[in-house]
Amino acid sequence: MLCYQEWTVQKVRSHFQNKLNTLRRILDLYQEKVEKKNTEWEKRVVSKMLELFSTRLDALHSHQASTLQELQMARQEVGKVQELLMASSQEQQEATEEGASPENKVQQQTVDCSESDLPLEGAKARLEDLKESLHQREREITELLEAERSPVPPLPQPPCSVLLPTLIHKAHAICCAVSESRALLDQMIEENRFALVEARDKLDSLQMTPEDSTDRQDKTTDLKRSSEYESSLSLLQDRVREYEVSQMALDCIRTGESPETNDCDAVSELEDILGQGTIRTTEGVKSVGQQLLLMQDQLKQMKEENKKTIENYTSERTMRMKYYNMVEDMKGKIRVLCRIRPPSRIEAAQGEAVVVDKIDEFSVKVETARGPREFQFDKVFCAETSQEDLFHDTNRLIQSAIDGYNVCIFAYGQTGTGKTFTMVGDKEQKNPGILPRSFHAMFDIIRENSTKFDYKVSAYMLELYNDRLQDLFVSLAGEAHAQPQSHGQARRVEIKRNRKGVVFAQGAETKEASSAQELYALFQQACANRHISATKMNVESSRSHLIVGIMVESRNLTNGSVSTGKLSLVDLAGSERAAKTGAKDHQLKEANSINKSLSALGDVISALSAELPHVPYRNSKLTQVMQDSLGGNAKTLMIVNISPSECNVDETLTSLIYATRVKAITNNAQRNVESKEIAQLKEVIMKLRSGQTVEEEDV
Ligand code: ADP
Ligand code: MG
Repeated sequence: MLCYQEWTVQKVRSHFQNKLNTLRRILDLYQEKVEKKNTEWEKRVVSKMLELFSTRLDALHSHQASTLQELQMARQEVGKVQELLMASSQEQQEATEEGASPENKVQQQTVDCSESDLPLEGAKARLEDLKESLHQREREITELLEAERSPVPPLPQPPCSVLLPTLIHKAHAICCAVSESRALLDQMIEENRFALVEARDKLDSLQMTPEDSTDRQDKTTDLKRSSEYESSLSLLQDRVREYEVSQMALDCIRTGESPETNDCDAVSELEDILGQGTIRTTEGVKSVGQQLLLMQDQLKQMKEENKKTIENYTSERTMRMKYYNMVEDMKGKIRVLCRIRPPSRIEAAQGEAVVVDKIDEFSVKVETARGPREFQFDKVFCAETSQEDLFHDTNRLIQSAIDGYNVCIFAYGQTGTGKTFTMVGDKEQKNPGILPRSFHAMFDIIRENSTKFDYKVSAYMLELYNDRLQDLFVSLAGEAHAQPQSHGQARRVEIKRNRKGVVFAQGAETKEASSAQELYALFQQACANRHISATKMNVESSRSHLIVGIMVESRNLTNGSVSTGKLSLVDLAGSERAAKTGAKDHQLKEANSINKSLSALGDVISALSAELPHVPYRNSKLTQVMQDSLGGNAKTLMIVNISPSECNVDETLTSLIYATRVKAITNNAQRNVESKEIAQLKEVIMKLRSGQTVEEEDV
C-alpha cells in the first residue's frame, strides 16, 4: 500500500516536473522572440533618427551658406561706410586748419553739418539694419543648433513591447508560485504520509494488544477498560481514514484528476462538518476541500450515468419503434420507407440550401418557412444509402411473393427525386435498383428450393400513359403494322380482379422466364416501348406509370399444393405540378393525366386512412391497378422519394404528408394456396375448355 502510494507520488511528481519543463521551454522561446523583436525595433528607431538628422543638417547647411553670403555683403557695406566716414573727417580737419572767423566758422559748421551729416546718418541707419539682420541670423542659427541638440520626439512604442516586460514578469511570478505550491504540496503529501503511517502503526499495535495480552480474561471482564479501548480504537480508525482521504485528495490535486471512489459517506461527512461549524479551523477547511473533491467525483459519475441513461433511452426508443413497426407490419399496415436523394449537380452549383435531414433511423426533418416539421416512417434512408442497403430492407418481400403472397413495391414522389433510380437503377446498371435485384433474389430462392418445389415464373409489363393501359410487350409500331385496321391502337388491356381480389391485366401478354437474366431481358424489351419525354425537371423523366407484374406459381413436390404469388413493382410518374415542369401541348396533356391519376390515388389513400366505407378505386386506372396493393390483400411497401433542396420544399412536404397517410392504411394480406385436389380440378377444367383429352390420372 505504502509502496503504491510512493509510486503514485513519484509518478505525479514526474508528471508535474514535465509540465514545468514545458512551461519553461515556452517561456524561453517567448523571451527569445521578445529579444528579437526589441533588436528589430532598435534598428528601426536608429535609422529613423539618422534620417531626421540628415534632413536637419541639410537645412542647416543651406541656411549657413546664405547667412555667410549676407554677412560678406554686410561687411562690404560696412567697409564702404567706414571709407565715407574717413573722407568726411579729413575734410573737416582741413576746413578748421584754414582758420575761418568764429561766426563764419559756426555758420559754416552749421551748413557743413547739415550737408555732410546726411550721408552719415543714412550709413548709420544702414549699419544698424545690417547689425539687426546679423543678430537675427545669429539667433536663428542658435535656435537651429539648440533644436539639433534637443532630443528627437519619442516614437510611439508598439503595445506589445509595453506589455511584454509585464507579461514576462507575470510569467516568472507564476512560475515561482507554481514551484512554491509544488514544494508546499510535496511537503503536505510527505507530512500526511508520515502521519498516516504513524496512525496505522498505532492502530495495528492497538488491535494487536488484546491477542498479545496474557491477562485477556481480566481485560474482557473489566468493562471500563474495554470501553476505553473501543473509543480509542474508533478514534484511531477515524484518524487513519481521515489521513487516507487527505492522501487521496492531495494526490488528486497534484495530478489534476478526480478521485476514483464511490464513497457516498463523503457527502454525509461533509454535511456533518458543515453542520458542526468546524469549517473555521484549518483542519475543517482541509476536510471541506477533500469532501468537495469527492462530491465533484460523484457529480462526474452522475453525469456519466445521465449520459448512459440518455443513450439507453435513445436505443430504447429505436427498439420500440422497430417493434412497433413489426407489430404494424403484422397487422397488415403498409410499410413506408423514405429515401432522400443527394443534391443534384445543378442544385449544388446553384448553392441550393439543404432543408431535409435524417434525424434517426425512423425520422426525417424538413425546415419549412413555418419552422421545422418532423415525419416518421418505417425507415429513413439518407443520400449516402446504397442501392444494396435499400434492397436489404425489401428482400424479405420477395420470399413472401414466392410463398404465395400478393406483394407490391412502389415508388412515389416528385419528378427527379430518384423513383426510377430506386426501382430500376441507373442507365448503365452500375447501381441496379429494386427491380433487377428482385429478379436475382427471386431466382436465387427458386434455385435453393428447387428440390422441394416446382416453380413457374411469368410476367406482364404495363404502362399507364394518358390514362390508357398499354401492354409493353407489344410495340405500338409493330402492332399497327400487323393490324392496320387498329389505326395504331394497341390491344385493349383491362384491369380485372380474380375471386381472391388479386388484380390481373386482361388482354396483356404474359411471358415466362426461367432465369433472372431472361426476366431482365423482358424488362428491357418492355422499356424500349415506353413513352418517355424530356421535361425541365428531369431530362429522363418517365411521363407514365410503369407497372411490372411477376407471377410465381410454386407446386409443392411433397403434398402437391399450389401457391400463386404476385410481385408488383410500380415506378410512378412524377407528382410535381405541371407548371413547374415547363411542359407544353401533348406534354401538358401527359402532366394533367399524371396529376389526375395521382390525385385519384391520393383520394383512395385518404379514404383508406380515414377508414371511409367507400373507397374510390374506380376513379382512375392507376387506382384500379393498385387496388389489391392499397387496402387490399397485398403486402405493400411504399418508397417515398424526396429531394433535399429548398426549392423543392413544397413538393417534399406534399409527398411526406401523402406517405404519412399511406402508412395508416391496413391491408389484409393472405396467402394464395390451393390444395392439390383443387389445383388438379382446375387443370382438368382448363384442359376441357381448350379441347384437350383428359387422362384418367388427371382426375
Ligand atoms: P424520378 O424517377 O423520380 O423522376 P430519377 O430516378 O430519374 O428520378 O432520378 C433523377 C436523377 O437523380 C438521376 O440522374 C438519378 O441517377 C439521380 N439520383 C436519384 N436518386 C439518387 C441517389 N439516391 N443516388 C444517386 N443519384 C440519384
Ligand atoms: Mg422516373
